Amino acid sequence: MDGGTEIFIMNIDVDFIKKFGNNFNKDIKLSNYSWFNLGGNAEYFYKAKDKDQLIEFLKDANNNNLKTTILGAGSNTLFRDSGVKGVVIKLGPDFSHISLVNNNIIEVGAATLDRKVANFAKENDLANLEFLSCIPGSIGGAITMNSGCYENDISKVFISLKAINKNNLREIEVKKEDIEFFYRGTNLSNDLIIISAKLKGLKKNKNEIEKKQLDLIEKKKLSQPSQIKTCGSTFKNYSEERKAWMLIKEAGCDQFTEGDAMISQKHCNFFVNNGNAKSKDIENLIKRVKKQVHEKTGVNLELEINIVGEKEKI
Ligand SMILES: Cc1cc2nc3c(=O)[nH]c(=O)nc-3n(C[C@H](O)[C@H](O)[C@H](O)COP(=O)(O)OP(=O)(O)OC[C@H]3O[C@@H](n4cnc5c(N)ncnc54)[C@H](O)[C@@H]3O)c2cc1C
Repeated sequence: MDGGTEIFIMNIDVDFIKKFGNNFNKDIKLSNYSWFNLGGNAEYFYKAKDKDQLIEFLKDANNNNLKTTILGAGSNTLFRDSGVKGVVIKLGPDFSHISLVNNNIIEVGAATLDRKVANFAKENDLANLEFLSCIPGSIGGAITMNSGCYENDISKVFISLKAINKNNLREIEVKKEDIEFFYRGTNLSNDLIIISAKLKGLKKNKNEIEKKQLDLIEKKKLSQPSQIKTCGSTFKNYSEERKAWMLIKEAGCDQFTEGDAMISQKHCNFFVNNGNAKSKDIENLIKRVKKQVHEKTGVNLELEINIVGEKEKI
């Protein structure tokens, strides 16, 4: 050797399974990992045990040219029917933790569910995080999407994050001032796997916080459907005055169906798997609605949901 890094080419089916045990599996049904309950198989699926194992895994994945896709709680992700090549990575329970750093700052693991963060903040008399109880994802997904509702979003409570760079395997800390947050997105590199974040709240009376949290949950229940297979808003709002649901209604698309994919009658920007839909049906519905909204209103709607996987060969 000349002092450079030694690269081990491994037999993925044998050596990865030997090395990462139950955390690494082949041919895993992705429908179990998306709120649409749709999608084909992941060629490989890896549930990261902890940070050190994740770094070791990424090193082996890089050396073996294994494509990686990071997944949170799957509440904004539609997997295609033909599945996902390479490995889908999900952060395991070790990445789900919350602690108080000081008076008004909390540190959370990236796999922690948003509603748990909202509850923890309430228990610790911290306001401004109530909106997280209305978003069904994880903190990693919320940061990537700059998720929010009712005049709030993650950028307003965000301080910093820690992430692993998939390429050089270094752990970095990125502060708010170094990230550009915009409506439902950021300029963070796709090479980063977020592992934790610091968020800030405002000290307030617990009863007031609880009241606001319950009000927001109630408001959500009244305006959006629940107990259905959906990933929430399909398209981003065009503007405050021309929200996506308004444009869908105005263009006369709200009764459209494709196979068993339909549009929620309670909120027509929510597309739904009615039980037996295929991902293709949801995608076809998206294309039809997008086309008709453009023809009728001139607006080119942009997707909010994330579509992942191989396109079917025609
Ligand atoms: C019923 C319902 C209601 C909803 N209401 C709202 C709402 O009010 N407001 C709103 O903004 N959204 C809403 N959503 C959408 C969704 O919940 C959010 O976008 C959520 O933040 C996605 O988080 P997730 O963990 O499920 O992300 P996923 O769907 O798993 O992933 C989303 C993106 O984040 C990336 N990602 C996830 N974790 C990491 C990580 N650790 N490191 C790097 N990248 C990562 C993924 O690669 C992907 O690009 C709703 C969805 C549903 C089903």
